[in-house]
Amino acid sequence: ISNQYRAIATNLTDENQVALGTVVVVENIGVEADEKTQHAEFVSSVAHELKTPMSGIKAYIEMLIDGDCEPEEADELYGFINDQIDRLTRLVNSMLNLARIESGVVEIKRHDHELNDILKTAADVISPTATEKDIKFTAELSDMYLPVFVDKDMLGQAIINLLSNAVKYTPNGREVRLRSRMEDTTAVIEVRDTGLGIPENSLPHIFDRFYRVPENNRSAAGTGLGLALVHFIVTNVHNGSISVQSQVDEGTCFTVTIPLGHKEQKRKKQLAPPA
Ligand code: ADP
Repeated sequence: ISNQYRAIATNLTDENQVALGTVVVVENIGVEADEKTQHAEFVSSVAHELKTPMSGIKAYIEMLIDGDCEPEEADELYGFINDQIDRLTRLVNSMLNLARIESGVVEIKRHDHELNDILKTAADVISPTATEKDIKFTAELSDMYLPVFVDKDMLGQAIINLLSNAVKYTPNGREVRLRSRMEDTTAVIEVRDTGLGIPENSLPHIFDRFYRVPENNRSAAGTGLGLALVHFIVTNVHNGSISVQSQVDEGTCFTVTIPLGHKEQKRKKQLAPPA
């Protein structure tokens, strides 16, 4: 029996102590064990992620304390320290954000909305960053009215994360596109870029916490937590789905689906007598 199960065996006897048999109760504690392992893995990843910038800061400060560097070198070291502190701040903020949403501390406020409105707001947020990189950013939103029952801030955050990754991992002067359409009973959102792409062996890990594609992150700042948050918001909060297709050096496309329907319509459908 694997350590995912707990077995309790009891020997049964009659009143004369003659053995009747053995009862074995096997309890599935897989979920509990999984949660413990995940928790331990998370703590060790957090510790690792925090240690890297902290050792950097310590090393630079020791060099400054030793005092045998030229003023320009000292300025450079202060710059490095500043960068590492920014990295720590980003990490801590992203971790807090993810932990608060995952643990349910942040209240989920789902209401009836029109999806394209949420997408337009996200597009407005990302436009200036795309322009700075001379990236041609287009939003091709469906003409259809797309009713959804969602937390608009959370879903908006998820789309902004996808768009900001698309811009971040796409070289200057190329293209990023946001699209929406209706497909059966779902609204489909596509975030497509013409950037670095994600190697096939990295695709299965892309939504894991702290995972960053080694080839893509030589210069781009990040935490590896953005897509973990997107995945949680889409699948756990909104019962939607997210998938990714990518080709190295050609680009990446994230496809999100969100069930269509306003709360009121869903309730009416449930109440409707069978045909
Ligand atoms: P990060 O903060 O590092 O951007 P994310 O969780 O948002 O973290 O993304 C995880 C990793 O997936 C990124 O570090 C990057 O390597 C890769 N990635 C995400 N989006 C894209 C994209 N559109 N194109 C190429 N690589 C991407």
